[in-house]
Amino acid sequence: MATGATPVKLDIPGRDGENVYLAHDVLLGKKILGNSALVIGGGLVGVETAEFCKDYCEKVAVVEMQEHIATDMYMTVRDDLLKRFKQVGIEIHTGTKVTRIEGNKVYAEQNGKEVIFSGYDNIIFAVGSRAYQPFENVESLAKEVYVIGDAKGARSAVEAIYEGARVGMRI
Ligand SMILES: Cc1cc2nc3c(=O)[nH]c(=O)nc-3n(C[C@H](O)[C@H](O)[C@H](O)COP(=O)(O)OP(=O)(O)OC[C@H]3O[C@@H](n4cnc5c(N)ncnc54)[C@H](O)[C@@H]3O)c2cc1C
Repeated sequence: MATGATPVKLDIPGRDGENVYLAHDVLLGKKILGNSALVIGGGLVGVETAEFCKDYCEKVAVVEMQEHIATDMYMTVRDDLLKRFKQVGIEIHTGTKVTRIEGNKVYAEQNGKEVIFSGYDNIIFAVGSRAYQPFENVESLAKEVYVIGDAKGARSAVEAIYEGARVGMRI
């Protein structure tokens, strides 16, 4: 079983607005309208999505609840990314936890205070993925069943390939 993972949205008011997208959909080419985008989540997918959006939008921001963005990125690659963000003017708001969305406004908590990011045409969730296992009782499907990759726990291609190779050698 290598059925991957499903991207998730935060369980907050306004998450299903018509201007609210999943990063996966944006990267797959779902049309974003307007000239600005706010990406919720500054992990690997969030920063990739922000750079992608900058090709189409004048104003792009990333809002991340932790103190840094792209912490899983190799340090030299991350340094380059931060330089590029500065050059092209992608805003970074760290230590900022999004709490709700109202139309074009995104509300968040920053240092115990409420802050509002307004005027964003597109709001994009990049807050992670959850393992996707479409079948119940997978163990009963065959004599030997192996759940590997993101289906076991959403991580990276490195783990998925490693687990696939291990299972391939074992059977
Ligand atoms: C934007 C983005 C960038 C990423 N960049 C990196 C990176 O730079 N480096 C890295 O290591 N990782 C990266 N990852 C993570 C990496 O893509 C995943 O960890 C990896 O693809 C997991 O592999 P997998 O085979 O487990 O699942 P997937 O690659 O998701 O494959 C699962 C497949 O199963 C299919 N499927 C699901 N259900 C069924 C069913 N019922 N029947 C038949 N088929 C089904 C799906 O359609 C899909 O094709 C990135 C992820 C994203 C979203």
